[in-house]
Amino acid sequence: MFSFVFSISVNSKVSRVKFGVTPELLQLLPAHQDISSVAYQMERLKALLSNIDGRGYKAYKDLKGDYQFDGYRLTIDHVPGDPFAHPSRISINVPSQKASLPSELWSGNARKTAAEDFLARAVAKAIRAQVKGHRGIGKSGEIRIETSGQQILVRNSVLIDDGGIEARLTVGLPAAGRIILSREAEEIFFGELPRVVSESLYFGNMDKGKFEKHVQSAEDQEFLRGQLRQKGLAAFVADNSILPRRSGVDDRPLKEAAIPFVAPESLSCMLTLPNRGRIRGMGIPRGVTLIVGGGFHGKSTLLHALERGVYNHIPGDGRELVATDPTAVKVRAEDNRAVWNLDISPFIARLPFDCDTTGFSTENASGSTSQAANIIEALDDAATLLLIDEDTSATNFMIRDERMQKLVIRDKEPITPFLHRVREMYQDHGVSSVIVMGGSGDYFAVSDTVIMMDAYQPQDVTLKAHSLAGPAMPREKPGRLPHIVKQPQRRPDPGRLIPARGKREVSIETRGIDTLLYGEHEIDLGKVEQLVDIGQTRAIGLIIHTYAKHYLEKSSNLVDGLRMALKEVEEQGLDILHPWKSGELALPRLHEVAAAINRIRAKG
Ligand code: ADP
Ligand code: MG
Repeated sequence: MFSFVFSISVNSKVSRVKFGVTPELLQLLPAHQDISSVAYQMERLKALLSNIDGRGYKAYKDLKGDYQFDGYRLTIDHVPGDPFAHPSRISINVPSQKASLPSELWSGNARKTAAEDFLARAVAKAIRAQVKGHRGIGKSGEIRIETSGQQILVRNSVLIDDGGIEARLTVGLPAAGRIILSREAEEIFFGELPRVVSESLYFGNMDKGKFEKHVQSAEDQEFLRGQLRQKGLAAFVADNSILPRRSGVDDRPLKEAAIPFVAPESLSCMLTLPNRGRIRGMGIPRGVTLIVGGGFHGKSTLLHALERGVYNHIPGDGRELVATDPTAVKVRAEDNRAVWNLDISPFIARLPFDCDTTGFSTENASGSTSQAANIIEALDDAATLLLIDEDTSATNFMIRDERMQKLVIRDKEPITPFLHRVREMYQDHGVSSVIVMGGSGDYFAVSDTVIMMDAYQPQDVTLKAHSLAGPAMPREKPGRLPHIVKQPQRRPDPGRLIPARGKREVSIETRGIDTLLYGEHEIDLGKVEQLVDIGQTRAIGLIIHTYAKHYLEKSSNLVDGLRMALKEVEEQGLDILHPWKSGELALPRLHEVAAAINRIRAKG
């Protein structure tokens, strides 16, 4: 479990502990040596280790400090008091002359993020190859670095700058019971780690072709996503993309039997990428797009790829050239979620017992109210594309057929289905939708584009669907439905964002990717489907804290305040969120941070 507790300003600088050489220690060290020399520093660590061998675990804390090794500097940043706690944090700094990374591999934001991602994966791979791993009790002997899954995310486990590369790892310092095993620790610091560093952080030893491909691919993806708006597209799926995944819990591409994507001619477009050159693929125009087709024909798989298309993917993922509007938000039904002070009246009005829906709060939303809330919040977060799958929608929120409209007269039905507002959302607010809808033809009349998935291949069936649709659905009479308007003054109550828990002034923890423990609140993010990494969950907790502390009062609404907080993080790095050096964070989107705040319950 990730956790941290502190009581100083989140913006304070990381303090480096300098190690003092005690007279006792000097006796253990070889005489007449330059104390800045590599040999001296390495001997110093060896001497320290032998000095604490067999002592209680806490004596490992003596190791804190910097040690110059041949080619890099090792810093032992933090050592816990016992072998079952979070492992020790260390960092490795390889100066630029030694790392010799060609600057073109990390110039520009997209390349820099991709290069850092590549290096973190290289370190992880070298750890798998070089580190014996578990030896002793608890986490003894384990070395780890945080890396992303199929996505390439901004993280802080590896950072590149003009000075060189910094990699942040955790090490379980070995112990038997609570007794220090120095010889095992020596093997880690003098055997395993130097081999890991040499294999993964010196450019001379890297797979240069793979590195180059990694950064070029990320740059192309960023470029592609940036092109969408000016091309009038909500999303793009390149030919030969592999969309299906190995399983619901394995995000890697399906290996055998995966049918590559091929764009239908009428929706095909060509784009030119900086590295890859010209590519062909399916452009999903802005507007209202339906994905139809029989069950099991690949509709949800396509939508899922679009959800993830807000992120860059690693080469070989199959979705490297699937790009979606960066503000795309998956909206779904999420019964039981909490909602605070939200105007959901554009979709839900006249609830029984005169329940007000212009400032709607509940600790337990229904399927339809939760989906309405998710849409209204997405609009507040400035989303310009909604992604909706019938599989995860409330039917009564999506459609109400003619017969039902005749039986239950309009004024008795609190729900205005999405069907009645989806065009207006696009025409008046510029918010596009991509909707998977295999079970009802009602949406034909309100759609711009209809894509049929047939045995995993897309076909453009727009003309046919429109000919079946009958007359276009008349626009609602003005004044008949409440306006869909942004809620510019909506801001959380600061009282809800207090991070204290018990005696701790700040307690922010995660329990897996889906659960954020913020102060006394347990926030369930299980249905926030575009959250992809536990490092994002950790960062969300810290960003909420930063927002509450520095920006909530300064901003008139939630999104403006979050924008300011995120801007600071994007400009200055994830490290500003932490009072000490950590390599455990990954950057979330604004939408996922807002989603966490929006799900905070009134009582703990
Ligand atoms: P639908 O939503 O239309 O019912 P899904 O998208 O859930 O269908 O896909 C059904 C199954 O087909 C899933 O197991 C999925 O992994 C698989 N599948 C989807 N697309 C492809 C493809 N291009 N090639 C091979 N299998 C696929
Ligand atoms: Mg489906």
